[in-house]
Amino acid sequence: MGAIPHYKIRNIDIIGPQDQEQFIDFLCDPQQLKTGSMIAINAEKIITAEQHADLKSLIANAEYKYADGISIVKSIRKKYPTAQIKRIAGADLWQTLMEKAGERSIPVFLVGGTPAVLEQTRKQLVSQWRVNIVGYHDGYFNDQECSALFEQIKLSGAKIITVALGSPKQEFFIRDCRRIYPDALYMGVGGTYDVFVGKVKRAPKVWQNMGLEWLYRLLSQPTRWRRQIKLFKFASYYLMNKL
Ligand code: UDP
Repeated sequence: MGAIPHYKIRNIDIIGPQDQEQFIDFLCDPQQLKTGSMIAINAEKIITAEQHADLKSLIANAEYKYADGISIVKSIRKKYPTAQIKRIAGADLWQTLMEKAGERSIPVFLVGGTPAVLEQTRKQLVSQWRVNIVGYHDGYFNDQECSALFEQIKLSGAKIITVALGSPKQEFFIRDCRRIYPDALYMGVGGTYDVFVGKVKRAPKVWQNMGLEWLYRLLSQPTRWRRQIKLFKFASYYLMNKL
């Protein structure tokens, strides 16, 4: 397998696998499962990071930033015309990672979501792919409980930890947990558990293929409009070649 190329968008280093399979093979190399943080990059996150120095440095230090948003994929194609890159939707990537973890008995710890969604997620992962879940904790806890949770994760010996707290909360959680327990692969997954258990619907495939998943999300969860307004700022960078 050749090395995976990297691209820079707004000075963020983005790993650009050709597709999800190549990325999963790279992360779950049988010789050595990768350690570090995986962050899904989309337009909203890039703009938020430009407004918050803390988030910006956290993203700069994360090991695996991948293009989740179609705007990022289009930006890479514009800036690097020969790039062979596809959008990798975090929700799909997480499912494939869980399937692989089940296949290889890699210990997994789940963080985030409501207690009911988390419990359902855990059950489905075990029944669908026999995932070895060594611990789990819902996403509603105070600072004190958070420190105890870091210890619990460390003691569990998990090698993959997936964190569904929404952005940027999950990214900060991962950064802090890694200070206590660095030798694992962390993935921030947003509302992925909600999708997995069927509580939230993703856009139909046609919309996804047309690069309109963001629009579907906006229409089905209109309260997100404030967040998605950042897309316009990003679009101006795209149009003015400020990528
Ligand atoms: N969540 C959580 N704890 C919190 C806030 C949110 O566990 O304090 C969970 C929530 O239940 C949902 C997910 O985080 O499952 C947020 O999903 P969203 O779609 O907003 O993710 P984003 O788009 O920010 O990645």
